Amino acid sequence: MKYFNRNLLIEKVKVKNIVKKFSTPTYCYSYKKLKENINNFKKSFNSFSPLVCFSIKSNNNLNLIKEIKKFGFGADVVSIGELMISLKAGIDPKKIVFSGVGKTSEEIKNAIDKKILLINAESKSEIIEIEKIAKSKKKIVNVGIRLNPNIDAKTLKQISTGKKEDKFGVDEKTFLNIVNYASLSKNINLKCLSVHLGSQILDHKPYEKMLKVLDKTIRKSNHNFEFIDLGGGMGISYEKNNKKFNYSKYNNAIKRFLKKHKSNVIFEPGRSIVGNIGYLISKVIYIKKNNKKHFIILDAAMNDFMRPALYGSNHKILPVIKKNILSKNIYEFVGPICESTDKFTTLKKFQKLDEKDLLVICDVGAYGISLSSNYNMRPKPAEILIKGSKIKAIKKRQKLTDLI
Ligand SMILES: *Cc1c(COP(=O)(O)O)cnc(C)c1O
Repeated sequence: MKYFNRNLLIEKVKVKNIVKKFSTPTYCYSYKKLKENINNFKKSFNSFSPLVCFSIKSNNNLNLIKEIKKFGFGADVVSIGELMISLKAGIDPKKIVFSGVGKTSEEIKNAIDKKILLINAESKSEIIEIEKIAKSKKKIVNVGIRLNPNIDAKTLKQISTGKKEDKFGVDEKTFLNIVNYASLSKNINLKCLSVHLGSQILDHKPYEKMLKVLDKTIRKSNHNFEFIDLGGGMGISYEKNNKKFNYSKYNNAIKRFLKKHKSNVIFEPGRSIVGNIGYLISKVIYIKKNNKKHFIILDAAMNDFMRPALYGSNHKILPVIKKNILSKNIYEFVGPICESTDKFTTLKKFQKLDEKDLLVICDVGAYGISLSSNYNMRPKPAEILIKGSKIKAIKKRQKLTDLI
């Protein structure tokens, strides 16, 4: 983030000017960062040209998905709604994979009708349901099975998905049983083994372990998988001391794996593509002192951005106008919602704040707007995209009348 004459800039635009036009709270995305993330991701794995399916649940803004699609990305969807918005964004159905533990028959029917690349099933019951629907439609449907590799991804427990106590995927025994079942079926074509360890993973070692488990399971299954879907989960640096995910080591491990197994690789990244491109601009409504704490009450709240309340995650906060006067107080940044978890962060050293000051919450591009709600009957914020010195409105702020 850069300041020019004490003014915070997003690309070449003063945040102060965004507020004049769009008010607060407003989500703002940097196109330049999006492009950098996409190109870096592609470059990291260019030796085996994977199919990259952007995880729509990390950010479901239609216009942003359209931009991501232009780089050749497909989509990883987890509901009929996400499938619908991916198709609306113009993503080729042959680049769409459908994940999730509880797909309804309606969702499965829709996915089959839209001829998507893969339905990644997460239980034997789901495989049987897909087969039943495929049979009634006289079709052969391409499926994957999600293996639960029982690996600790060393991330927050709320966003870990690859341990045996998690609800995701099937254990090896069930996996092998489904492989046998599918090989006898006339209506399902088992093309893919999928895995997804969890999210915000900063260590490459769990992925190396995962590839070893895949190697072992594939050997036992004696089945040729046209696709290996490795999921997403690569973490980003929210805080200065976060280590950086080592893409090069992950890439090397995959290359070793591909020497033994001739499959096409699919990735489903979300956070690593959009996490650091987003800023939530907010205004201080009131400042009040209770006991020893100074509460900075913002006009953004947990309904706009839920990660801190949901996971206790910490996001950088920056002033829109730099003052160079440090406050002696401890500031607790909170929203107006009637919940004590409606709190963003507590900071000991921050510039002195006044009511009506503008602030920016950083790295909110992933699991920001997509997790937002209308709790407390609060309309959802506006979303804008910055490209150089251009500002493009990509979603209108909800109106109060939209809520009724
Ligand atoms: C959430 C999810 C992803 C994306 O995870 P990120 O951590 O955002 O990269 C990918 N695949 C599946 C199956 C998911 O549930």
